[in-house]
Amino acid sequence: MSSDQPASASHVLEEASRRRTFAVISHPDAGKSTLTEALALHAQAITSAGAVHGKGGRKGVTSDWMELEKERGISVTSAALQFGHRDHVMNLVDTPGHADFSEDTYRVLSAVDCAIMLVDAAKGLEEQTRKLFSVCRHRGVPVITFINKWDRRGREALELLDDIENVLGITPVPVVWPVGNAGNLRGLVEASNTEQMRRFTRVPGGTHKAVEEKLTAAEATAAEGEVWETALEELELVLSSGPGWDPEAFRAGKISPVFFGAALTNIGVGLLLDAVVDLAPAPGPRPLAVAEATRPVESDFSGLVFKIQANMDPAHRDRIAFVRVCSGVFERGMNVTRAASGRSFATKYAHTVFGAERTVVDTSYPGDVVGLINATALRVGDTLYAGKKAEFPPLPAFAPEHFAVARPKDISRSKQFRKGISQLDEEGVVQVLVSDRRGDQAPVLAAVGPMQFDVVLHRMEHEFSSPITLDHLPYNIARVTDAEGAAVLNRARLVTGETLTRRSDDVLLALFGDKWQMNSFVRSNPDVKLETLIATA
Ligand code: GDP
Repeated sequence: MSSDQPASASHVLEEASRRRTFAVISHPDAGKSTLTEALALHAQAITSAGAVHGKGGRKGVTSDWMELEKERGISVTSAALQFGHRDHVMNLVDTPGHADFSEDTYRVLSAVDCAIMLVDAAKGLEEQTRKLFSVCRHRGVPVITFINKWDRRGREALELLDDIENVLGITPVPVVWPVGNAGNLRGLVEASNTEQMRRFTRVPGGTHKAVEEKLTAAEATAAEGEVWETALEELELVLSSGPGWDPEAFRAGKISPVFFGAALTNIGVGLLLDAVVDLAPAPGPRPLAVAEATRPVESDFSGLVFKIQANMDPAHRDRIAFVRVCSGVFERGMNVTRAASGRSFATKYAHTVFGAERTVVDTSYPGDVVGLINATALRVGDTLYAGKKAEFPPLPAFAPEHFAVARPKDISRSKQFRKGISQLDEEGVVQVLVSDRRGDQAPVLAAVGPMQFDVVLHRMEHEFSSPITLDHLPYNIARVTDAEGAAVLNRARLVTGETLTRRSDDVLLALFGDKWQMNSFVRSNPDVKLETLIATA
């Protein structure tokens, strides 16, 4: 326990106002890892200094993390990277990078105050970007757009903005405009200062990073001629036809500030970081489960468990619960209470974690992410608090669309099998359902995206030493029902329908093969409760 005096409310408010907690959302290959590295290198890494300047010299910030992902062949985990920029503390929360949508990502987005939507200049709005954007919208997370890879041939800037407006239904407001088409990036001009061009030149040989110079408008005209004039005309056109910058509209998800650049050569990355400081909201009061009530940032400690990960580091067999600090001060060793059970425990082992690097954390403020080691009672969505009680609303579950029965390959390992399945359930890797018909020896695994099954297969074999088989089931739709609904469903004895109990929270889920089957059931049984879960598309 720290011997310091309890932090004053004004101190907490001041620390919270210096925090920016954000995530990067993108389709795989759009450049998320490259941008993460560029952001952290551009800024000054604080707690992950070891990760940035690794023992072996200049090691990429994400390399430890990626090593782990490589071993597993897939990105399965999330953590946070903390670094400093302009006297602010930036918390970049990592989102899983795989092609599938998974509930994981949703939970990560419940822990951030802003998201950077990374768009590949040549590919535009890809499927995963659209899905992740809709999650941000659902959660009310404001979105900053960064159009990446402008150093390569790609689409027209105006066309990309039209897509953002038409496909996502959010109005793009350029803060930065590219001088030169995609593939001919000469520099950038800021909407707030069209009298200046930031020119970027690649250094021949040597490093990737481009060198920046500031040119006056006259110098830009002399040096770049028509390319500069065109950039100004396009910017003027977009700005005059749009609503203009409005912080309220940004926070309400009506507009998205747009940046252009190239993460690989570090072009536009500094302006993007500045935007996170200047535009993204600092941690604010968080709504509680009780209607209309909020937890102010300066009140007693409260935090949200948004991610649980076991065996993250093969060298440490452990289980880490990632907690986003929502209010007050978190101090290592302090006693916190788990709202769901009312039990309190001492947080003896608290770390900030990024990849395999761990730094012991002593004090954290709203917006920071803390990893609690071996806090085995914790579940994703839990609220932790000290002092005055707090409980945040539960994280909503997404509608699973893929179902498979899991069985141990070797039945003599059924103990390991049960342990593994229940761990993966707690981590939220898949939802684990038990049906009367099959019993708990053959649980049904339900996933939002099929890749979640690959993670289960891999981890059951390598971490829990119980290889499994998965038999896919012909269902696509899950609906929440109640006990009466379950009785009707059982009586109906649908050929391909059954009622299942979601084990961890006792929610009853009815599964249907397709919407025709479900609609026909609804026509015959109009009174049965069948509620939808959140769809991801
Ligand atoms: P992720 O899957 O979103 O994490 O994408 P990566 O960061 O791994 O990048 C995917 C590929 O795009 C890699 O080959 C990167 O070098 C490349 N890349 C990323 N950013 C840029 C960029 O600004 N310009 C160019 N030309 N390539 C980029």
